Amino acid sequence: RWLERIVARVAVDAQEVFPTDDLLDHIPLLLDGIADYMEDPADEITADVPVIAKAMELGELRLAQGFDAHEILKEYEILGGVLFSYLVGIVDSVEEECTRGELLACGQRLFRAVAIIQQVTANRYLRVADEHVREREDRLRGFNRTVSHELKNRLGAALGASAMLSESWVVEDAEQRARFLRTIADNLETMKQVLEDLLALSRMDRNARQQRNVMLPEAMAEAVRQLREMAEDQDVRISLAEDLPRVEVDAAAVELCLVNYISNGIKYADPDKPDRWVHLAASREGLEDEEEVVIEVRDNGIGVPPDARDRLFDRFYRVTGGTVTGAEGSGLGLSIVRETVESIGGRAWAEFDDDVGSTFKIALPSRRAADALSP
Ligand code: ADP
Repeated sequence: RWLERIVARVAVDAQEVFPTDDLLDHIPLLLDGIADYMEDPADEITADVPVIAKAMELGELRLAQGFDAHEILKEYEILGGVLFSYLVGIVDSVEEECTRGELLACGQRLFRAVAIIQQVTANRYLRVADEHVREREDRLRGFNRTVSHELKNRLGAALGASAMLSESWVVEDAEQRARFLRTIADNLETMKQVLEDLLALSRMDRNARQQRNVMLPEAMAEAVRQLREMAEDQDVRISLAEDLPRVEVDAAAVELCLVNYISNGIKYADPDKPDRWVHLAASREGLEDEEEVVIEVRDNGIGVPPDARDRLFDRFYRVTGGTVTGAEGSGLGLSIVRETVESIGGRAWAEFDDDVGSTFKIALPSRRAADALSP
């Protein structure tokens, strides 16, 4: 009844309320803990009894599932209600002599036990939620520092060059003038790209709050659709593998990452190749319990020199500096991809297993409960 009533309150499937056998074991353990306390109230529920560890685990699970704190409180209120009505049902069949006062005290102990466990679960939930917020704040501060630093440098370079334009020796020298104008334009262009990336990121944050899950093949098709025009303009063919696993993924995160990877594949296509392509594929990898879905974007572009490969995902790092293909960029794209997938428990990296082009990948944890939805 407890399970049914939780399910009726929150938008989570019944199997997901306690998604693994281990978690399903929570119920008897929680009940045992409560019963022990009722039998012997002198034995306080202390931190080392198993029921406390289970109650804490439940707090972490509920956070991961996106319950809010109020729902946890409610969940235990329901448990208290279910147990109390059981107590009312059996109280008449108790054979031992007892006073009314003793029966009331028994009810009071029941609620006290539930309240203790509720508190432990809620505290754990709030503690972990707090840690997540702090972690995100730290990352954000670091990110702000790097971005501000980069913008300040760019602005400084552009201002410096514009001051030079009024120097008499520059005014008279067309070549020098052109050089300083180019410095101004390049730096402004980079600042524009940085701002565009930041805007994309803030859109992503908004989407992530109202997390929208979609099937992986749809998310991949959507990313391809967004870049079809750009690919046609640059004469690059985009193809999508047919056997994509049907797992649920976070739409905003996957689309943001793939749009970055694919647009890089297009931007850094090899001008000397007649057939230029970007190919997308995905597969499930790893063991049952820790299965992940790996998505890859492979291209036959200009590739990345071995000594630059380690730094690709660093903020503002650019190998070509826009000189080889004239591709514009901020050097932020890949670092944003990495931040985004890591924030949802995944990984992002690049592989260069032969000398043709590059392969950029992301791996996302793939939950079994979500997999169960696939046909
Ligand atoms: P940018 O805005 O410069 O494209 P990214 O962070 O997306 O920034 O990429 C960083 C650098 O990595 C790029 O400047 C480019 O030198 C290199 N790079 C990224 N993707 C590819 C690719 N598919 N092929 C070759 N080089 C790439």
